[in-house]
Amino acid sequence: MIDFFDKRNRVNIDIGIRCPLQCPKCSRQEVYKKHNLKIPGQDMSFDIFHKISDHYHKVIFCGQVSDPIHHPKLIDFLDILKKKNKDTSVHTASGHKSKDWFIKAFKAHTGARWLFGIDGLPEVSHNYRINQDGVKLFNIMLEARKYLIQRPVWQYIIMDFNEKYIEEARQIAKNNNLELKEILDRKNLKKGGYIESFKT
Ligand code: SF4
Repeated sequence: MIDFFDKRNRVNIDIGIRCPLQCPKCSRQEVYKKHNLKIPGQDMSFDIFHKISDHYHKVIFCGQVSDPIHHPKLIDFLDILKKKNKDTSVHTASGHKSKDWFIKAFKAHTGARWLFGIDGLPEVSHNYRINQDGVKLFNIMLEARKYLIQRPVWQYIIMDFNEKYIEEARQIAKNNNLELKEILDRKNLKKGGYIESFKT
């Protein structure tokens, strides 16, 4: 019963509206861009963020139509969560920030769990993650190990174009002390697949 309530005591928030990537299956493209609609929403304010972070034990920044690193105050939000001693996860695929910016973000809440969406080997991930510099983001993920308490997570959505690299990715993750989280895409799920987390 305690576990049940613990699981409910978490929230995933989309804190902004920006993302420089153009992943084809994202709602940004499939819903809004396709119909020439503006991305709805706005940057979350400190006031609302304080209310949310007071209420929930765990805060997950996993945007559905934005990447959290593009909220101008993400580092301040991480600092707030650290001071409030909250469990925190940050999901990013963008990488469109400087290495120095990322280091400040890691240092702001060293207990946070960071997940980096790089689908395929870093050199080819832009085939799906359009506008992503996979090599840069991979190197930032390696840099994160110096500051974070938890191992960084390499999140890898397995699709037709990148399934051939999965064994190599497992080896790279193992060699670099990364957690590799493998996720099947919607097409493979429809074929009767399942979501699996492969831990190195
Ligand atoms: S990185 Fe995330 S928010 Fe940005 S386009 Fe891709 S799926 Fe959408």
